[in-house]
Amino acid sequence: MSAIEPPATRREEKLAYERNKLHKRLLRQAGQAIADFGMIEAGDRVMVCLSGGKDSHALLDLLITLRSRAPVAFDLVAVNLDQKQPGFPADVLPRYLASRGVPFHVENQDTYSIVTRVIPQGRTLCSLCSRLRRGILYRVADELGATKIALGHHRDDILETFFLNLFFGGKLEAMPPKLVSDDGRHIVIRPLAYAKEEDLAGFAQWREFPIIPCNLCGSQENLKRREIKQLLRDWERRFPGRVENAFAALGRLTPSHLMDRERFDFAGLRATGEPMPGGDIAFDADPALDAPVRPPDRDPP
Ligand code: SF4
Repeated sequence: MSAIEPPATRREEKLAYERNKLHKRLLRQAGQAIADFGMIEAGDRVMVCLSGGKDSHALLDLLITLRSRAPVAFDLVAVNLDQKQPGFPADVLPRYLASRGVPFHVENQDTYSIVTRVIPQGRTLCSLCSRLRRGILYRVADELGATKIALGHHRDDILETFFLNLFFGGKLEAMPPKLVSDDGRHIVIRPLAYAKEEDLAGFAQWREFPIIPCNLCGSQENLKRREIKQLLRDWERRFPGRVENAFAALGRLTPSHLMDRERFDFAGLRATGEPMPGGDIAFDADPALDAPVRPPDRDPP
């Protein structure tokens, strides 16, 4: 007769199973994003920007694993920018990176003094801080011979940016998974573009990454972004599938059914007399809108 398994062991097994599933999902999503957008090629030297937050830690961890399994050879170099914020624990990331065996560079630049001197008290420091950080990271990428700069932005960052632009900026624009930097000299990639923030938070907790909060400087997150974040969280809870659909829509643009005259030649549009696949059905109901709401995709995309 076999002994009854103690509940603690079953709980541990379940937890190990869930963590393994989460890890596989994140690896698959990062691998898929890299492949879909041609983010990494053979011979690339990828500079991973490690702020010390959960997302950049997860990015580095996943890239280390993907690198060991990738069909093409590429290098990784982690870069942390020590902005001299009060209380920044300068020894934490070097110690962690050395333990992971990843080549790394710590760039010391006191941007904290600059932003606190230039920005009046009570105003948010983040936009100047980000601009300064960007310039420094581009220079460091040159110095390290990096061919790609990898950032830890994820699906929720992309959606938040999309809705911020829609509601407050009056334009359809999100955060691209791959882009040329504004100085025209670097390729910036976001391998976590398909990953959910919630998954990254769970992963970071499980792996016990040494997290360093971004807001040691005391600055607050932009209020509008916080509002959008809350809205998306609320939608996710009340309308399963809505956020997934909104995200999927970013990859399915139909310029002829929007109103941007630069993207579609409305003035030159003529009836050809031939049926057009994808042509407008004008006054008919749209079957896509009448369809029942899709249940949430457990493992998107
Ligand atoms: S929270 Fe502080 S360190 Fe982070 S981006 Fe804003 S100003 Fe910079």
